Amino acid sequence: MWNIKKIVSKGDYYYAIVLDHPNRTKNNYVLLHRIIMENHLGRILNANEVVHHINGNKKDNRIENLEVMIDREHSSHHHSQIGRTMVILKCPNCGVEFVREKRETFLVKHTSYTCCSPRCRGQFSRNIQLYGITDQMKSAISVNILREFNSLDNTEGTHLQETP
Ligand SMILES: [Zn+2]
Ligand SMILES: [Zn+2]
Repeated sequence: MWNIKKIVSKGDYYYAIVLDHPNRTKNNYVLLHRIIMENHLGRILNANEVVHHINGNKKDNRIENLEVMIDREHSSHHHSQIGRTMVILKCPNCGVEFVREKRETFLVKHTSYTCCSPRCRGQFSRNIQLYGITDQMKSAISVNILREFNSLDNTEGTHLQETP
């Protein structure tokens, strides 16, 4: 649908240069996550539709990390998250980085590590049963938590007035 001429990183976001987009800025910038979603849906997003980054990383524009929300539900979604402590984790089984609310992790629950998915959790605990905790597993567990942050400031650009 849209032909991306170039991708530019600016502030918290990536922007696409799209020469024929009706909502482009005068420099032809459009928020990249909106372009990716519009190309995926095959239609232009309405002004009240927000593209939400599911894992909180505003530069992670993989389609599986993007979700269209109506701006009202989007702000209440973020409002309900205000003040929550989030953590960035690294799955000890597959090594993928992901974000989760702290209270959903081993830091609060009575477990010793947190995997990205039930499947990884199953594999990892099966390996521990088979081989015991190897040095490799120990070091994977030691870097399970990468960073904590507060989800105070996690709103996406809704409209296109942000001129890069
Ligand atoms: Zn959002
Ligand atoms: Zn995993």
